[in-house]
This record gives sequence, C-alpha cells and structure tokens, in this order.
Amino acid sequence: MTDTALPPVTLVILGASGDLTHRLLLPGLGTLLTEKPYDVTLIGAAMAPLTDGEWKALVEAALKDAKLRPSRIEAVLAKTRYINVDVTNKDNWLALLPNLPENSVLYFALPPAVTAKACQVLATLDLPKGLKLALEKPFGTSLESAKELNHLLMSVVPENQIFRVDHFLGKATVLNLLGIRFTNRIFEPIWDCGDIESVSIIVDETLGLEGRAGYYDNNGALKDMIQSHLLLMMAIFAMEEPASLDEREVRDLIAHTLRATTLWTDDPVTSSRRARYTSGQIHGTQVPGYVEEPGVDPAKNTETLAEISLRINNSRWHDVKFTLHSGKALGDERNGITVLFRPVPHIPTGFVDGDIARNVLWIGMKPVTLALQVSTNVASDRFKLESTVLSADLDDAPLRPYGEILDEIFEGDPLLSVRGDIAEECWRIVEPVLDAWEKNLVPMDEYTAGWAGPNAWR
Ligand code: NDP
Repeated sequence: MTDTALPPVTLVILGASGDLTHRLLLPGLGTLLTEKPYDVTLIGAAMAPLTDGEWKALVEAALKDAKLRPSRIEAVLAKTRYINVDVTNKDNWLALLPNLPENSVLYFALPPAVTAKACQVLATLDLPKGLKLALEKPFGTSLESAKELNHLLMSVVPENQIFRVDHFLGKATVLNLLGIRFTNRIFEPIWDCGDIESVSIIVDETLGLEGRAGYYDNNGALKDMIQSHLLLMMAIFAMEEPASLDEREVRDLIAHTLRATTLWTDDPVTSSRRARYTSGQIHGTQVPGYVEEPGVDPAKNTETLAEISLRINNSRWHDVKFTLHSGKALGDERNGITVLFRPVPHIPTGFVDGDIARNVLWIGMKPVTLALQVSTNVASDRFKLESTVLSADLDDAPLRPYGEILDEIFEGDPLLSVRGDIAEECWRIVEPVLDAWEKNLVPMDEYTAGWAGPNAWR
C-alpha cells in the first residue's frame, strides 16, 4: 500500500491512563507511524480527570520514545484529545459514539471485568458502521467464561470486527515460523512424526513479579503464558499447510490443530508440573520469594513456573510429545522452540558413534535466531564425530509487537488476532490441568530465584 492509500483512522483507547497504554500501546503506535504514516485521530478515554495537556504530554513522550519524526508527532498531537468517561455508563457512550466515523477502533485497555461490562452496554446501543473492537488478554478465566464473552461480543459486532490481541504472536514471529517450515525443501518434508521425536516451546524470564501482583497472583504462569501464547505458537508450528496467508485459511488450520490437541497422558497429574520461586539472586540482584512479594496472597497458591505435555491426535504428529514450559525469576532468558529429530536408522560401521549429536533445530523468538545442530567429523580423528551448531541471528522486525497489532487492526486483517473458537479451544486444553491444580493433585515444587527451575525437574 502506498502512503497516500492509507486510510484515516480513529483510535479510541479506553483505559488511556493505564500501564498498557503508556508502556506498550502508545510506543507501539509510534513505531507503526514511523513505518506507515496513517492519518490517526487518537482519543484517550478513562475515568481519571486528565487535562488535554496532560494527555498530550503522555502521548508525546511515548511517540518520542518510539523515535517518531517531530513533524509526525505534531500531526498526531494536533488532533488528539482526552475524554473523561466511565465505560460502564450508557450516557457516556451515547455522547461518544455518534461522533465516531465509520471503521473506528475501540481499544479496550481496561481490566477484563470492566471490558465485559462495557460490552454489555454496547450491545444495547446503535454503533457506528464497521466499528472494530480490540480486546486484551486474558480472554475469560475459564472455558465457560470465554464462551459467555464470545456470545456477548457477537451480539455487539461480527467476528471479523473483533480483534482478540495476543501481543506475543507478532506478525514477524508467525510469518517466520511459517516461512522456515513451508518454504524450505529441507524442512517441509520432515515436519512430522516420522522425523521429529519431540518439540519443546519454552518462554523463561529472568524477571520476577515487577510489582504486578494484582494481575499475576490471580493468573499464574499457566494462564498467563501457556493457555494463550504458547498454545498458539504450538498450533502454528504444527498446523497443516495453508494454501495462502489468508486469515480464514490460517486461523481455520490453527483451530483444526488445537481441536486435535489433548494432554499427553490424558491425566493432568502426569501431564503437568508446577513450581514457585523462593528468594534468591538473579544476576547479582537479591529477589524475595514469590509469597513474600507485596500484594501476593499465599493462599491463592499461584505458580510462577508451569509445564504441560501435550499430544496432537493425528497421523502427522502421532506420539510426538509437545512440551510447553514457562516461568518467571529463572536464571536465563529462554524464548523459542526446540525441535529434536529422530536418530538416523543406521550409522556406517567404523564410526565411533558414542558422541553422535542428534539433529536439533532451535527457532528463537526474541531475539530471532535460527540454529541447527548437526553431527560432523572431528578434525584430529575422522572416525570420531562431534556436534557442530550452524546458527544465524535474523533481523528483528522494525515494529514493536503493539505496532504490528495496531497495523492489522487498522487494515482490518484479523490474521494474527485470536478467533473466538481458538480462544475457547485453548481453555478446553488447559482446563483439566487447572482443575487438578485447584484440587492440589499436583505438588507445588519450589526453585530458588535465579536457578534453572526445581532440581527434581532436571
Ligand atoms: P491498569 O490498571 O494499569 O489500567 C486500567 C485502565 O482502565 C486505567 O486507565 C483505568 O483508568 C481504566 N478504567 C478502569 N475502569 C474504567 C471505567 N469504568 N471506565 C473507563 N476507564 C476505566 O491496567 P493495564 O493497563 O495493566 O491492563 C489493561 C489490560 O491490558 C488488562 O486486560 C491487562 O490484562 C492487559 N495487558 C496488560 C499488560 C501490561 O503490561 N500492563 C500486558 C498485556 C496485557 P481510570 O482508573 O482512570 O479510569
């Protein structure tokens, strides 16, 4: 699309005074405008009594942080305004909605319960044509609540105007995964149980709670990371080949893969593990134990490290174990997919095969890297074998994840947003584990902050 073809957009950020807006959403918008000069009318809305000046200062700081050109910042500031609203109040909507042009975007950067109440009000009102709704995670708190929320949303606007945001799955991440797999002759034919033994998807953070107890203590690692982001990464990794990158085609195949997914043993007790960090040092900084963090309620028994094992019940992935693992306050940042290939059926007699390395492919997500472990001959003794890693660092995308998300919402292309049935499938898969953990059928292991996890998990 050429610059002049970019349509004007009105973006209403509900929750304009919140953390997501100033830390991620506005800087993301800045990176998008650096790449694509949309003509944006930005409206900030929340209950806090901000003045227009205070709002403009907030916007300016975020756009500067994203290194947007001063003339572009001025153009945004000239049109932006702040409105004082309670989104659960019908009269406030009646004042706002008639002023919104066609195809406006309502971005719900709100606590999830407030978003649901706002949608209940919207369902009773006449809306501008083509109004798009962007919803943040968590999308529901269970399968049942996700179904109820979907039902409510569908009474507001059609599915193709709903964008359930997963900031983790930026466009670059998804397209890299599809590109590596489907455009390489060496990978495409071996992407199945005949050649792949197991797949691990791991997102480990060195960061601890970072003052977000209010959110995290009600969710934990399984809901925060695995139920949404990691299951989607797995489905994109494992899905059948799309004929095109059309949103319906890709999202149908993601849903198809998730529908075939169950726990590895069908038993949540043997297919899941959980743990919580105790006090320790992360790269020289002392961190308190999770239960000593301000705002944490130990009675909630929230995990900070979660792991589940899954199978995909089709012939492509027969008996291939998929392990999804994510945690906080760990010793190293790990972020990506590890693919372990099966051994070759026969090693020619004469090679000393004790050290033959298995082929392993690592697809790193942040930073974007690709590495392949192969077996090669030792220089000093050609009968011996050793492992060699071929690796490449790929360029990061110029847009921050929220820039990519806003771009797709502005364009009206929901390729990377989570379709309603997909969100429900993700809850369906983890719900037996959540039930077993709630009943304390799975022990809560412990690990020292800054370590690689519980000793027993090694
Ligand atoms: P905050 O608590 O920081 O902000 C919530 C915002 O909602 C505030 O601006 C608040 O402003 C506004 N708000 C609350 N009630 C109303 C109301 N009735 N009418 C109008 N505005 C209201 O939350 P976050 O920004 O952290 O999170 C927002 C959403 O984004 C959540 O769903 C969260 O899960 C999700 N998210 C957050 C991330 C983050 O890093 N922060 C990352 C990924 C997702 P006021 O009180 O002034 O009205």
